[in-house]
Amino acid sequence: MAVDDGMIVALGSADEIRRSDPEAETVALDGWVMPGLIEPHGHPGFSAILLSDLVVDLRPVVIPDADGVLAALRTAVADAGGEAVFANGWDALLQRGLPDPDIRFLDDLAGSVPLVVIHNSGHSVYFNTAAALAAGLDRSTPDPVGASFVRDAEGGLTGVALEAAAVEMVVAPMLAKAQQHLPRILPAHLRDLSSRGITTVSDLSWNPGLDPLIDALRAQGAMPLRLRWYEMSRPGGAPSVRGGEDPVFRQTGVKTWSDGSPWVGNIATSFPYLDTPATRGLGLEPHHIGHANYTPDELSAIAEPYAAAGWQLACHVHGDRAIDATLDVYAQIIARHGLTDHRFRLEHCGAMTPAQFERAASLGVTVSLFVDHITYWGEVLVDDLFGAEHGGAWADAGAAFAAGHRATFHNDGWVTPNEPFRNMAVAETRTTRSGYRMPGGTVVTREQALLAHTANAAWQLFSEHEVGALSPGLFADFIVVDRDPVTVSSEDLAATQVSATYVGGVRVV
Ligand SMILES: [Zn+2]
Repeated sequence: MAVDDGMIVALGSADEIRRSDPEAETVALDGWVMPGLIEPHGHPGFSAILLSDLVVDLRPVVIPDADGVLAALRTAVADAGGEAVFANGWDALLQRGLPDPDIRFLDDLAGSVPLVVIHNSGHSVYFNTAAALAAGLDRSTPDPVGASFVRDAEGGLTGVALEAAAVEMVVAPMLAKAQQHLPRILPAHLRDLSSRGITTVSDLSWNPGLDPLIDALRAQGAMPLRLRWYEMSRPGGAPSVRGGEDPVFRQTGVKTWSDGSPWVGNIATSFPYLDTPATRGLGLEPHHIGHANYTPDELSAIAEPYAAAGWQLACHVHGDRAIDATLDVYAQIIARHGLTDHRFRLEHCGAMTPAQFERAASLGVTVSLFVDHITYWGEVLVDDLFGAEHGGAWADAGAAFAAGHRATFHNDGWVTPNEPFRNMAVAETRTTRSGYRMPGGTVVTREQALLAHTANAAWQLFSEHEVGALSPGLFADFIVVDRDPVTVSSEDLAATQVSATYVGGVRVV
């Protein structure tokens, strides 16, 4: 592979390349070379904070059980010196035996220390009275559109906020406190991603307040990957004008949330949750059915101005009813504006059916699947939440490819560790970390798995003319790995180690 000025200019045998440019410097790479990996749905801006030393790490990938979670919270409160404590990663489905994290429980645990506990999904947050005070929240605080505060019979806050707009209000003091630390923690997080072989990351909830930090990193020559970002839609939001071809850092689209998280009961499905100890533990009524964040009319009204301004739309969807409603809205917008290459996205797609994948494909809508849910929550999906029919077919990547999609996979920021090779492997095996094979859904081929984190992801981010493959005319974004990713077994693929990462022909790790 010949590289000039950051671009791949030729591929061929060593002799051919040398003949074409005898003066060229030769760099020997020790291992297998493949295109740099692309994370098409991350949240590096927020993850940098949540995974930093400013936040107590409770994630189930770090603390497996309830006793450990509660001990970590008590220690953090005791060591806080009265300062607010923010913790992230609560998951009652994996950390079995966690109590109901309501305001009374958290008041007992933390007293006058403000305590905020973020659910691992990021879709709900729990807070005590002191934290409500610190964030300026009380019973008179109205619910933001598309989100809510859970209230008691008298209208008082119970210490639970659901969905992004309410979560943001609770964690606002944390974000304010993080400001002064961001010049340290954001670059460290981006370097961590690039050490995992990621050469382009997309942020689905980018905070433009971080733009100056990215500019500063670039000025120092220390930006270790490319960043594509989506602004968070606001009801009545005013879209910026589409434009710019910056190959390192640019806006790709606009993000909306059609429903919520399967782990807390707020995804919009046609079928009920199972009635199990786990769903009772989540506080769900027997045969609970979750609901969408917006009516179709609300969703349409939010999306319309952004689509009219030319932006790609990306919508969080898990439940099959949320998917139908979102496809309805997309179809109207596509028809209204005569769009042909919109690449509107559906994110996560947990309970998406083969027929829905086909309908999406026929509309030109593209999908990014959270296949890593299977790794950690496969048993929970089948045994505790949805049964074999609906839970067993969760994140059906095989059905997506069969419908003709250029499907992609992701880890959703901090929700599961950024391990693209493990995503590929789990889509190939549909087997959990403890060896349970999902009873439904279809597996993908190795070629499909590799495309999901390379060329397909580049296309989904409107970046296929820049990255995603080792081809002349594209940037020399590539990684060196310790095994042949085309031929190794799925188990071996999951354990692939990245020994070097190059972005635009420059080694960054
Ligand atoms: Zn996300």
